[in-house]
Amino acid sequence: MFNRSTKKITRFSDFLTGDYARDYINQDTPYDEQIERAAAIIRKADYVLIGAGAGMSTAAGAEYGGKFFAEHFAEFQKLYGKGPYMQDMYSAGFYPFPDQESKWGYWSHQALLAGADLDVTPLHKTLLETLKGKKLFLLSTNADHQFEKAGLPTEQIFQTQGSYNLIQCKRGCHPKTYNAVELFRQMERERKDGRIPSELVPKCPVCGGDMEMNLRVDNYFVEDENWHAAEERFCQFLSACKEGRTVLLELGVGFNTPSIIRFPFEKLTREHENVSLVRLSRSKAMVPVSLGERAVGINADMAQSITDISEKLRGWDKE
Ligand SMILES: [Zn+2]
Repeated sequence: MFNRSTKKITRFSDFLTGDYARDYINQDTPYDEQIERAAAIIRKADYVLIGAGAGMSTAAGAEYGGKFFAEHFAEFQKLYGKGPYMQDMYSAGFYPFPDQESKWGYWSHQALLAGADLDVTPLHKTLLETLKGKKLFLLSTNADHQFEKAGLPTEQIFQTQGSYNLIQCKRGCHPKTYNAVELFRQMERERKDGRIPSELVPKCPVCGGDMEMNLRVDNYFVEDENWHAAEERFCQFLSACKEGRTVLLELGVGFNTPSIIRFPFEKLTREHENVSLVRLSRSKAMVPVSLGERAVGINADMAQSITDISEKLRGWDKE
């Protein structure tokens, strides 16, 4: 990609390479120095590729379990018992709902709370404000559209794992997705005892079969036209990055799906001298020691570290 020895990335699948690093360390530099280093790296950058994982939404204030779940999903806990499933929005999604009416009764509720009606964008806005003037692109495994809501243009976003706003054929019989937000709202209004009326159950317009959320959980995940257009823009951005200094800014990516952002980011940094890695995470910010000065890994409350980096940069701008 950035030099002749590396293959040009033209498909997202080409990007998904890299492996578990054998030389991870938690950098022991004092927090303030780390913030300063991260800010200095970002300041010099022409291109910033943000890689955002679940930790970004959590740091911004999104809640999925605990009190939040008990409060918003009491109806479903009462119906299905708390058991191993009805604990948080992740586990509950795997509940073996008895029929489509019950399944969409639950999922419409979750999709709205975690997607269309979620608004935790102040932290996202702070970050975008901080990166103003940089050539920017977002690679995200989140399905919640928070960067978009914070003002980042859709053309600069590749949300690879789907969207809480979209549904698809369960068997992926045709490569299309359907915006279901209004349907979800109707389901929400008409739900009784956890079930929606049968006439609201969506059916595939092509094969007539069941529909599913457009979230990557199995091999039937549909990559639609918009997905492929975003993939192409992402690859173009990567190849443009060779023109200048590039920062890979990784936010809240742990080890659940490290092959999508974490490992490829490490590989790009390893292979290209114009690339640096800034990794922010509450507790998973270890970086390969072999990346040397080009990697900063800050284990801290991410809302705090983003704010601190932002303030540091603003302070320098005033000087
Ligand atoms: Zn179908």
